[in-house]
Amino acid sequence: KLASREFHPEDTVFEVKGVKIGGEQVVVIAGPCAVESREQILEAAQKVKEAGAHMLRGGAYKPRTSPYSFQGLGEEGLKYLKEASEKTGLPVVTEVMDIQTLPLVSEYADVLQIGARNMQNFPLLHAVGESQKPVLLKRGMSSTLEELLMSAEYILTHGNQQVILCERGIRTFENYTRNTLDINAAPALKMLSHLPVFIDPSHGTGRWELVEPVSRAAVAAGADGLIIEVHPRPDQALSDGAQSLTPERFASLMKTLVPVALAV
Ligand code: PEP
Ligand code: MN
Repeated sequence: KLASREFHPEDTVFEVKGVKIGGEQVVVIAGPCAVESREQILEAAQKVKEAGAHMLRGGAYKPRTSPYSFQGLGEEGLKYLKEASEKTGLPVVTEVMDIQTLPLVSEYADVLQIGARNMQNFPLLHAVGESQKPVLLKRGMSSTLEELLMSAEYILTHGNQQVILCERGIRTFENYTRNTLDINAAPALKMLSHLPVFIDPSHGTGRWELVEPVSRAAVAAGADGLIIEVHPRPDQALSDGAQSLTPERFASLMKTLVPVALAV
């Protein structure tokens, strides 16, 4: 299998606009769940950049449980993301939800995010596999690691080798947290695969208070990077406010990661 360690014993390392993914450095992607306005994403981008983030996240197309919830700004959101990226130098990670919008999203994204709900959308995997954009592939909320790896395989077999595997929590009987972050996924995926492995402690917990300790655990467990939701005003967020850090809390989290990263 193309994703397996057996096939490719060395860690896969690639660069996204000068940011090395899968190398020595822990890479932090930060930003709001969704792009809500020009001001919001510009402020978020500038603050996460100041705190030391390496890439900017923000959804313009949002896979919401309810059709009545904010669905994202679409192309307008992509334009604001691009402006935020140009102002800060941070590459953009944003979700692509379907094949129809893939060409448009690809014009703005530096990394295409495949959301948990689309992990087994095989035609979409095929299409991003044909694109030459790096892909952040999130684990489905009820998918096994083997299924995640097989989804990565769809992208790799279509010619795209730049794939990041992302653990974002799975559904269990526990409901204190939004999902149960499977910390096992970090070392297990690193053993099974050469691909870089990221952890999403925001969706993995659903609670901002847990994001910092769980981020440290992820780095200690060998994750190559983190994707963290940060909003200038989480209490006013149109999505995922409860799990979003303020820029100040994000800055303090970044400081506490340093000694952990040095120890692994
Ligand atoms: C997100 O990153 O905001 C998101 C929708 O993530 P997931 O697909 O993991 O639920
Ligand atoms: Mn979110």
